[in-house]
Amino acid sequence: MKEKYQITNQFIKKEWKQRPGGNRRPRFAVAHDTGNPNSTAQQNYDYFNSRHLEASAHVFIDDKQILEVIPLDEKAWHVRSDVSDANEWGIGVELCYGPSIDFNKAYSRYVWFFAYLCEMYQWDPARNIKGHFQLDPKRRTDPLNCFHQYGKTFPFFIEDVKYELKKFVVNQKEFNEQVTGEGKLYKVQIGAFSSRENAEKLSRKAKAAGFAVHIDFS
Ligand SMILES: [Zn+2]
Repeated sequence: MKEKYQITNQFIKKEWKQRPGGNRRPRFAVAHDTGNPNSTAQQNYDYFNSRHLEASAHVFIDDKQILEVIPLDEKAWHVRSDVSDANEWGIGVELCYGPSIDFNKAYSRYVWFFAYLCEMYQWDPARNIKGHFQLDPKRRTDPLNCFHQYGKTFPFFIEDVKYELKKFVVNQKEFNEQVTGEGKLYKVQIGAFSSRENAEKLSRKAKAAGFAVHIDFS
């Protein structure tokens, strides 16, 4: 099976305050919208890569691309730290929207990307995806302000992610059955990485191509 969408890596410079670094295994993802109608993923990258800022996010998604601007195993400042530990453990994902962005295309990518994260980290969408509005209810309404403009609700979004995730899981299950049916196994190593994220990325690619994947750590 081929990946439905591509993820583009275009990292902002390490010197900026909004890319504090770190090396963690993320525990959940936070759904945001940019709150800035019509700004594209690329424009957000340009902005976040141009000056020191107090805030950041890992990924920006619009109708054209899924743009990863901070590696997922690093920290980003996308939720106020006095209300949540989301900067330590969460992946901040921003949905770009507005009249000049095709909502359905952007939303499909957004849903797919959360399913991709759930598959990669073995998360349950209902437990491991939080809305920014849930973590900081006094100050934030995203991504609901965007969702409601297009007739979506948060529970509906979680259902969409579950549905998308099933497609990943079904493919993997079928393959496991084929492999165990044959009895004998020869293992092939195809990569070694110092970053867990890179290992998981390659494993995702291999899975998408139909291989059974297991990550070893030594
Ligand atoms: Zn937010």
